Amino acid sequence: MEDRQFRNAMGKFATGVTVITTEVDGNGVHGMTANAFMSVSLNPKLVVISIGEKAKILSKIKESNQFTINILAADQKEISMIFAGQLKEHREIVFDRLDGQPVIPGSIVQIACEVSGEHIEGDHTLFIGKVTDIHIEDGEPLVFYSGRYRSLKEEEQVML
Ligand code: FAD
Ligand code: NAD
Repeated sequence: MEDRQFRNAMGKFATGVTVITTEVDGNGVHGMTANAFMSVSLNPKLVVISIGEKAKILSKIKESNQFTINILAADQKEISMIFAGQLKEHREIVFDRLDGQPVIPGSIVQIACEVSGEHIEGDHTLFIGKVTDIHIEDGEPLVFYSGRYRSLKEEEQVML
């Protein structure tokens, strides 16, 4: 099977867009755009992210043993592009803090996690995160579908 066919198929699963951040011993924050994110367990509260073997953030999460997930708002396409390496020029980002960890201001949800499990599967590493704190803001999400950024459109209510 061609890679393109696999990616085209996976791209039909509409997702939100997150930025994962981590910081090793106060040595600067590293962020990466990711849509491979899922809720795993309610009791205990666990989530999972999937990080490619070539991503620079991989070794940093292993070292810090913690990360945050920031669910981007509809107006944060540029933030997504910055942390996906899709903008040429460097942009200075000022981070807020949640449970001592760096989070993206303006994101609609910020989730602070400690790594509670690590599984290498193929060319990605799955990190299970034990949720230590959550912050929620009002707002609509940025959506990723078929390789493009979108926004949600509410269906008109059907009157029966
Ligand atoms: P880099 O490529 O070095 O960092 C990414 C970019 O973030 C760079 O441009 C860097 O300058 C910038 N940056 C990092 N930290 C800061 C900071 N503190 N201040 C300002 N800028 C900073 N890959 C996956 O492995 N898993 C996924 O789930 C995933 N989902 C994706 C979803 C979407 C919608 C997109 C567009 C990409 C996704 N990717 C995913 C690909 C991933 O985002 C890119 O391959 C990314 O460039 C890899 O980042 P890196 O850790 O190698 O670091
Ligand atoms: P795309 O058509 O490459 O992606 C569509 C879907 O395919 C993604 O939502 C994801 O589910 C899957 N996918 C893509 N690349 C993958 C990979 N290397 N490993 C596992 N699943 C993958 O969309 P695009 O706009 O061309 O993406 C921009 C860039 O971001 C590409 O380089 C892509 O590889 C990368 N990306 C990586 C992942 C990931 O590693 N999990 C997820 C999304 C995008």
